[in-house]
Amino acid sequence: MKIKKAGHIEIFCGCMFSGKTTHLIKRIAQLKKSGAKIQVFNFHLDERYGKNNIISHDGKKIKCEMAKNSTDILKHIKKDTDVVAIDEIHFFNKNLVNLCTKLADNGKIVLTSGLDKDAFGKPFETATLIMAEAEYVKKVHAKCELCTDKASFSYRTNEDKNTISVGAKDKYIPLCRNCFNVEYKNRSKK
Ligand SMILES: [Zn+2]
Repeated sequence: MKIKKAGHIEIFCGCMFSGKTTHLIKRIAQLKKSGAKIQVFNFHLDERYGKNNIISHDGKKIKCEMAKNSTDILKHIKKDTDVVAIDEIHFFNKNLVNLCTKLADNGKIVLTSGLDKDAFGKPFETATLIMAEAEYVKKVHAKCELCTDKASFSYRTNEDKNTISVGAKDKYIPLCRNCFNVEYKNRSKK
């Protein structure tokens, strides 16, 4: 009898500069060491650090494939791949959730990483749903730019109202709940 390989879903999430991608890269390295065949995907608009690379804010870098949506990812997954890693999941629509569960149901380990909340402090639907489906959820934190407490909010420093606006330290700072609320109140008074 062939023993069925069990799959599962893992998620690393938090605000910007919280080390999500660092955790993802570490986990990928760990599984690679154990001999797993791994494919890594990132959202095609996220080219802050060059195409076909995932780079953490602390400078670690690995190769990846760029994908427009979940169909695109599915098309590129090879039959013998054991682990599918997807970075910046908040950029994908919620079809990604079905893909992740389908892959896990079929014995693959699915590693995901992304923002849990947008620049206005509202949850990203895709990340929220993957958190519910995942067997392992790791919330990571940055250091609040204003008071050095643990930060879990990504505060956008310009007035751009779009939910998605790709950027780094030029547009966002990590804030704790208290500083985030204070900054938002001050902004609305302007
Ligand atoms: Zn703070």
